[in-house]
Amino acid sequence: MTSNTKARKLYFGSGPAALPPEVLAEAAEAVIDYNGSGLSILEIPHRGPQFEAILEESKDLVKMLCGLGNEHEVLWLQGGGRLQFCMIPMNFLGAEAPAGYVDSGHWAHEAAKAAAYYGETRVIASSRPENYSRLPQFPHTAGEKLAYLHLTTNNTIYGTQWQHIPDTGAPLIADMSSDILSRRLDYSRFAMFYACAQKNVGPAGVTLAVLNRDLLAQQQRDLPPMLSYAAHAKHRSLLNTPPVYAVYVSLLMLRWTQQQTLAALEAESNTKSAMLYEELERNRLFQPVVTVKDHRSRTNITFRAVSEEVHRGFAAFCTARDIEGIEGHRSVGGFRVSLYNAVPRSSVSRLIELMQEYEQEISKL
Ligand code: PMP
Repeated sequence: MTSNTKARKLYFGSGPAALPPEVLAEAAEAVIDYNGSGLSILEIPHRGPQFEAILEESKDLVKMLCGLGNEHEVLWLQGGGRLQFCMIPMNFLGAEAPAGYVDSGHWAHEAAKAAAYYGETRVIASSRPENYSRLPQFPHTAGEKLAYLHLTTNNTIYGTQWQHIPDTGAPLIADMSSDILSRRLDYSRFAMFYACAQKNVGPAGVTLAVLNRDLLAQQQRDLPPMLSYAAHAKHRSLLNTPPVYAVYVSLLMLRWTQQQTLAALEAESNTKSAMLYEELERNRLFQPVVTVKDHRSRTNITFRAVSEEVHRGFAAFCTARDIEGIEGHRSVGGFRVSLYNAVPRSSVSRLIELMQEYEQEISKL
């Protein structure tokens, strides 16, 4: 880094999210010269051996980290989480059985809405009437044949997360955008899982989708190749020009994740979130939004200040101390602190320190 680089802020944004400094440094270097090749990573051809190697290593790392073998196909796609909301029903919702959706938050709701364009959907559980401040009751047996059951494992905006993913009998498709690789999970249970990259996987611009081969073989309608998972799989994520740089930075992030190990990242995630929830329970100025402890997210911690004045005051207090990204989603307000893998425990300690300092400052008034 050059000497005139400003010190890094402590960043708790919900996505695009913090990336580790060592990943950023390597990503920056590659922009000027990729691996001593005399070309920038922005210039290398996507069908050349360098990108082939990036693609293969990244897919292998996803499988390794998720404990998957050859029965799963790893795809790098474009169009963000939202295009997955459309591609899933386009590919897998046919005329024979409806698709089930668990409506646990804004993104889950959007996924269900997109599916309704393509066929029959059933919302089998919803916490919409409670403003998504808790998880819905999960019916253990949906009671009818479903083409698939769609679940959002972590609700980024509301700060709820499924700690136990119930069994239902239907093929499970999970939006793991905001908690993928934050914990050990039996990833093989899912017929498909996907994540927009800009949280734990890498930068914005690429989406990870992992499908098992049984599901891949069940395309329900004729589709143009760009919208067909089977076509993307056949072309090994090289159907069109992929976002080379976004895939490369994701590879750097996956290597970093592998170095840390999923077990250690999970332990950190538990510790960081427990520290913050503990402070929220204690501090008189703030309250956690999610009161059912078992429903609380370890990734996105949502809370409210006791008054608008305290909210504004604490927000300004943090901004003045180079803390950024703690405002809640514009649709719900309040605060939201995102503790993705790249957010170190020291950042959480600093934030807690500031919550305590601010509490003392207010009590002097
Ligand atoms: N799903 C979840 C759980 C999300 O948090 C988001 C966005 N933060 C999305 C889907 C949508 O992703 P994108 O903006 O990449 O379409």
